[in-house]
Amino acid sequence: MGIQSVCRICRREGMKLYLKGTRCETEKCAFERRGYAPGQHGQRRKKDTEYGLQLREKQKVKRIYGVLEKQFRRYFSIAASKKGVTGETLLQLLEQRLDNTVFRLGFAESRRQARQVVRHGMILVNGKKVDIPSYSLKAGEKIAVSDSFKENPGVKRSLEMLQKRGVPEWLEVDTTALSGTFKKVPTKNEIALPVQEQLIVELYSK
Ligand code: SF4
Repeated sequence: MGIQSVCRICRREGMKLYLKGTRCETEKCAFERRGYAPGQHGQRRKKDTEYGLQLREKQKVKRIYGVLEKQFRRYFSIAASKKGVTGETLLQLLEQRLDNTVFRLGFAESRRQARQVVRHGMILVNGKKVDIPSYSLKAGEKIAVSDSFKENPGVKRSLEMLQKRGVPEWLEVDTTALSGTFKKVPTKNEIALPVQEQLIVELYSK
């Protein structure tokens, strides 16, 4: 997926979703330039079918979190088998991913970059190296940047971006020690993404 196409998601949703790293903070941000929905100035799009809307919502969530279809399906099966509202559980499972949290804490400029940082062994969980991006964090776990990565200029840039974006309330960050805590699993309201997860549940329940 190219740079512009991922920016379409922000434009369509009418908000910046920070999918492109530092580019999101420059005047190159497609949302800053053209905040309206893509295609025909966002005015004359064909009316989506119900199926089309469900599919679009699924694609959007997959792209935001950078998860492939097979893995996404697996998250859905886990969510469906758990007690509680399936759509919310699905989002919670995605939020619990280590790569997502590394991005949310401001240690990487995008989720995609966070995945690389984790894969390269630059992240510790409870003091031990964890190089699995999909690692699912539990309440109370501590995340830290390894000493060898602390001086990386990318981290400084990421933290500057974080100042604008803010740290979500279920996380705690120490920007000096470059560490943080996953305090609790967030609720759907706390996650605050423009996602209608119920549409995804409907799609997979057909
Ligand atoms: Fe593209 Fe980032 Fe701007 Fe979204 S916030 S439109 S991903 S540059």
